[in-house]
Amino acid sequence: MERPPIIRKSAAGRRVPPSAPLSWDEARRRLAGLPGGGLNIAHEAVDRHATGRLADRVAIRWLGASGARREITYRELAALSSRFAHVYRSLGVEKGDAVFVLCGRIPELYAAVLGGLKCGAAVSPLFAAFGPEPLKTRIKLGRGKVLVTTEALYERKVKKVAGDMPTLAHVLALDSAEASSMLRSASESFEIERTTPDDISFLHFTSGTTGMPKGAQHVHGAVVMHCASAKVALDLHDEDIFWCTADPGWVTGTSYGIVAPLVQGVTSVVDEAEFDAERWYSILEAEKVAVWYTAPTAIRMLMKGGAGAAKRRPLPALRFIASVGEPLNPEAVWWGMDAFGLPIHDNWWQTETGGIMIANTAAMDVKPGSMGKPLAGVEAAIARRSERGMRLLEGPGEEGELVLRAGWPAMFRGYLGEEERYRRCFADGWYFTGDLAKRDADGYFWFVGRADDVIKSAGHLIGPFEVESALMEHAAVAEAGVIGKPDPVVGEVVMAFVMLKSGFEPSEELRLAILGHARRRLGAAVAPKEIAFATALPRTRSGKIMRRLLKARELGLPEGDTSMLEEGA
Ligand code: AMP
Repeated sequence: MERPPIIRKSAAGRRVPPSAPLSWDEARRRLAGLPGGGLNIAHEAVDRHATGRLADRVAIRWLGASGARREITYRELAALSSRFAHVYRSLGVEKGDAVFVLCGRIPELYAAVLGGLKCGAAVSPLFAAFGPEPLKTRIKLGRGKVLVTTEALYERKVKKVAGDMPTLAHVLALDSAEASSMLRSASESFEIERTTPDDISFLHFTSGTTGMPKGAQHVHGAVVMHCASAKVALDLHDEDIFWCTADPGWVTGTSYGIVAPLVQGVTSVVDEAEFDAERWYSILEAEKVAVWYTAPTAIRMLMKGGAGAAKRRPLPALRFIASVGEPLNPEAVWWGMDAFGLPIHDNWWQTETGGIMIANTAAMDVKPGSMGKPLAGVEAAIARRSERGMRLLEGPGEEGELVLRAGWPAMFRGYLGEEERYRRCFADGWYFTGDLAKRDADGYFWFVGRADDVIKSAGHLIGPFEVESALMEHAAVAEAGVIGKPDPVVGEVVMAFVMLKSGFEPSEELRLAILGHARRRLGAAVAPKEIAFATALPRTRSGKIMRRLLKARELGLPEGDTSMLEEGA
């Protein structure tokens, strides 16, 4: 197939016209607001629909891993989330308290999250594939008061670290008799806490190069952006069946797996099972998915099976495919054309932005390999920051850090307890994203790489420090340096270099023991896939491990500036 640099769109043949750009004010006008004043995401997502024309529309169509199926209407979701809100209140949850939710993708997760928002709590959904250590770190940092989970997850992941989470007053195991009875006896109507657009709604943990994860604080006002971006960047229309494949334990799965589709009043497919190509194709077909929001790793895994597998399934309902979380190779966009007759629309955002900022929209021509253009109301630029200040790079093709004019509705409002770190993200009214990018003459943005050492594996952001810390808890490990090693399917795999304490010798047995330790502590999603023994780790003169150099040496790339390197390392 000939591959021109741009895929031209024509509206001909579309069932519905692409959504036009929406200003923040227009999006604000589409929201209801709380009766009597205020703004609360849960009200916009469910309660206002539950009393209107969408009351009986299916909000969530849940597909269980073992074949079960359950549909929950907007009315039912409003009622169930109110029950959760009452239960939280009875456990002493007040506005601003933190509620953590650790469940697989089960229907109750959605109600538990929405119920927390109704109480005015700061809600933090956690990834069920995390191990005990990342869970403990996040609940401790976030000062979690209540943890909603299941008995199995509690036993496997929480119990052994429960004693080290001093703020955690209650664990609500959903399948316990106690939780069932509390929920059953709670009322189905709840007066939502009168939150303002600036009150905290979600706490999303994200990773940096140094230190433990950062708790990005988000506000109820973010819903303005979820409303606008769901229409424009995801092309959601009223009657659509929508499938966001991201887990709610990551920001995409919350903003676009829970909030945005509910605010739009569409039906969301929620699949409990893990990735399986055949299963995914049959979901797209049987559930008549119209809009599918997924990630490059998943697309690359589907690509491995060839376009033929996709073509065997007639998918007349599928109208729009979007992807986020990692660079989407041009190959994948073209594969979409081949397999589905549709381009895959890359978009860009991050935990801190709270919502999609840059996108290939349905109305735009797609340049395969580009993240697209800033949404209406978003100002993005390329900049360089130095001791002397910042400089915007205006020329097409100039590489620098991607910056965003501060003040968009879903902008994070702080890193919990780390004011200085938050402040350092901004200069001259711009937010610095930590990503390197460039812009072409047509205003399309292209991802170049990360400005830091953070690892993106299967779309999940992993902080090397968190992994190094867990490795160093192993009795044989003196030091550890962790890098992301390029991988054709998952983008990067976590690779660790470990230096052993004296008295320990490298062996295959020890390598497996350390791998096993890391998996138990961190969980499969975060633990290294590869471990190599090192006799020394390159460090700066001030003692910091130079991960960039470790990576360059591993990959046989130029070592770059080594002036900071300690003598002899
Ligand atoms: P997270 O905060 O976990 O959502 O990760 C955000 C980071 O993922 C961004 O800062 C980028 O480094 C990367 N990312 C997200 N979307 C894209 C994209 N479309 N292309 C390239 N990288 C992306």
